[in-house]
Amino acid sequence: MTYISSSKVVHSTDDGDVPFAPMFHSGTWQEGQSGRRLAVHEPATGVLLGQVPDATAADVAAAYASAKRAQVGWARMAPSERGKLLHRVADAIEGSLEDLARLEATDSGNPVTAMRRDVAKGAEIFRHMAGLGYLLKGEVIPISTEGLHYTRRYPYGVVARIVAFNHPFLFACGRVASALVAGNAVLLKPSEHTPFAALALARITQDILPPGVLSVLTGGAELGAALTSHRGIERISFTGSVRTALKISEQAARSGHVKSMSFELGGKNPMVVLPDADPEKVAAAAVRGMNFMAVQGQSCGSTTRLFLHRDIAARVLEHLVPRVEAIRLGRPDDPDTEMGCLISHEARDRCLGFIEQGVRDGARVLAGGSVPDDPGLASGPYLRPTVLVDVPDTSVCATQEIFGPVLSVLEWSDLDDVVERANSLPYGLTAAVWTDDIRSALRVADALESGYVWINDVEFRHYAVPFGGWKDSGIGDEYGLDEPMSFTRSKTIVATYS
Ligand code: NAD
Repeated sequence: MTYISSSKVVHSTDDGDVPFAPMFHSGTWQEGQSGRRLAVHEPATGVLLGQVPDATAADVAAAYASAKRAQVGWARMAPSERGKLLHRVADAIEGSLEDLARLEATDSGNPVTAMRRDVAKGAEIFRHMAGLGYLLKGEVIPISTEGLHYTRRYPYGVVARIVAFNHPFLFACGRVASALVAGNAVLLKPSEHTPFAALALARITQDILPPGVLSVLTGGAELGAALTSHRGIERISFTGSVRTALKISEQAARSGHVKSMSFELGGKNPMVVLPDADPEKVAAAAVRGMNFMAVQGQSCGSTTRLFLHRDIAARVLEHLVPRVEAIRLGRPDDPDTEMGCLISHEARDRCLGFIEQGVRDGARVLAGGSVPDDPGLASGPYLRPTVLVDVPDTSVCATQEIFGPVLSVLEWSDLDDVVERANSLPYGLTAAVWTDDIRSALRVADALESGYVWINDVEFRHYAVPFGGWKDSGIGDEYGLDEPMSFTRSKTIVATYS
C-alpha cells in the first residue's frame, strides 16, 4: 500500500485499514457528495489497493461550476504563460518518474520498465503541447481591399475527457495537455480500473495550475453519462471501446444540445507481409506490433491480424514462435518482467473464450493459448502470449477486437484480394505493410482503409504525429497539432472599411 501514499494520492485512511483517495476538483480534494465509493484492486494480486469516490451528477455540477470560472482567466493568459506552466508540470512529472512508474505498474498490471517509458513520454507530451499555443491560429483571407476578413480560434470552455485503462498515466497526460494549451478547463475521467495515475497527475498539477483548470473525477459509467449529458460541456473526447462511444453519442443527444465529439476507439489491425520481406525482421516486428511487452497486447493499435504471403509464411513462423515463447512473464513490479498481467480476470476469461472459439472455428494454437504454469503468477490474470494460425477469415479471432495477447495469422496469395480482406472489417485504426518493393508498399499503404499506416514498421507512434481511426475506430486525431487545434473552434470576422 505504501506506493499510493508515496505518490501522495491518499490523504486519509478510513473504513478500517482501507486507504481512501479523494478525487480532485474545484482546486481541492473531494470525497464526493453521495458518499459512494469504488474499490480498486491490484490486478496482479487481487489485493484491495484503496477506494475512490464514485462520483455522481452532483459532483459533475460542482466541478463544472468551478472549472467554468477558472477557464475564463486561463483562456485570457498569453499562450506563452500557459506553456510555461505546462513545462513546470513536465518538470514535476520527471521529478517523480520512478514513483509514478511503480504506481502505474501496480494499478494497471503493466511492467514497471515499460511504465517508466510511459511516464517519461507523458512529460514529453506536456512539453510538446506547451510549445503549440502560438500555432493555434486563424488566417486572414484577402477577398477584397475594402475590408479585413479573418478567422480566430477560441477554446470551447469546459471540456470532458474520458479515457481507457491500458496506459493510465500516458493517456491522462496526453488528453489533458492538448486541451489545456488551447485554453480549456478539463474534467478528466480515468477508467474505474486505474484511477490512481490520473489522481497522481492532479496532485502534481495542484500547486502549478490555477484551481479549477484541471479536475479528475473518479467513477464508472454513471459518471461518464453525467459528464457527456451535461448541457454546459460542449466538447467531449473519448478513448475506449466502440460500444461505449455509441452510448456516449446517445447520452450526448439526451442533453438536447449538439456537442463536438471525438472518439479514439478499437481496432483489428492488419499487417500485410509481401513475399520479398525479410522473415526474421517480420517476425520481430510482428511481436513488437502486438505490444505484448508493454500492455500485454491490450493496445488499440496492435497489429493483431498478420497476413503472411504463403511463400514466406513458414519461414516467418519459424522465427516468430520462439520469439513469442521467450517473452518473460512476471510480476509487474519486477524490473526483469517483459509482460505483466491483464487488467482483470474477466478480461483474461474473455481472451481465453476467444481462443477456444478460434480453435472451434479451425485455428491452431502455435504458441501460448493458456495461463502460465508458474505458481508465483497464479493469483493474477496472466495469459501466455498467443499465436493462432490457420485462422479462417470468418472466425471471431479474425473479425473482433480481442484486446489481449492473441495474434491471429492468416495467409494470402493475391495482393488485391488481401487488401480487400484487410479492409473488410468495420475497424480502421492502424495497418502495416512489409516489402522492399516501393511501388507495392505505396500502393498498399494508399489502399488500406486505416487512419495510421506503417511501411516496414509497426507500433511506433510519436506525439508530434497525428493518430486517429477511420470507420468504427474513431473520429478525429490525437497528438500532432491536430489534437490541440480540435480543442478550439473558429470564428470568422468580417470587417468592412467603406
Ligand atoms: P471502455 O469503453 O469500457 O471504457 C472506457 C472509459 O469509458 C472508462 O473510463 C469507462 O469508465 C468509461 N465509460 C463506461 N461507460 C460509459 C458511459 N456510458 N458513458 C461515458 N463513459 C463511460 O473501454 P476500456 O475497456 O477501458 O478500453 C478498451 C477499449 O479502448 C478497446 O476497445 C481499445 O481498443 C480502446 N482504446 C482505444 C485507444 C485509441 O487511441 N484508439 C486507446 C486505448 C484504448
